[in-house]
Amino acid sequence: MNEQFVILLVEDHLPLAETIGAYLEETGIAVDFAPNGLTALHLAVTNTYDAIVLDIGLPGVNGLEVCRKLRQEAHSATPIIMLTARDQLEDKLAGFDAGADDYLVKPFAMPELEARLLAIIRRRRSSAFQDHYEIGDLILDAARFTVTRAGRSIRLSGKQFDLLHLLMRESPNLVSRESVERVL
Ligand code: CA
Repeated sequence: MNEQFVILLVEDHLPLAETIGAYLEETGIAVDFAPNGLTALHLAVTNTYDAIVLDIGLPGVNGLEVCRKLRQEAHSATPIIMLTARDQLEDKLAGFDAGADDYLVKPFAMPELEARLLAIIRRRRSSAFQDHYEIGDLILDAARFTVTRAGRSIRLSGKQFDLLHLLMRESPNLVSRESVERVL
């Protein structure tokens, strides 16, 4: 059984949605369902999901637009796996361009979807929880290689970044000269 993950499944092909939903629920993943892009956007901004499985070919607002809106307008960082029936390179590139984390071509095996889902959820969690440090208004995101102070980004050299990363990671403890020299 997987821990209490909740995902949003966006798929207009109902038999496939049922198959995916039944499989994932069997593995312990809770599944919310949206049959179109507008419902998906509504659910994704009102609820918190560990990941979104998003079909590209949807009536109305398609999956690429849903993904782009979530990233650019809702500033959502929820991991997204795109699904498409068309094995086309353009779809895949457009998906990543729109902000998708991974991509599956139909038909796919259910264990493959489960494995990819768990991988992107864990990747996001580890980067969110282990590589993100906040002290006062200073924020360092090691996964994205960014530092901001009071919301304004600060440019640092690689070594400066590594040194700040070390100091923030160890804070409020003292850092030995040896540890600092190892970074520099
Ligand atoms: Ca579809």
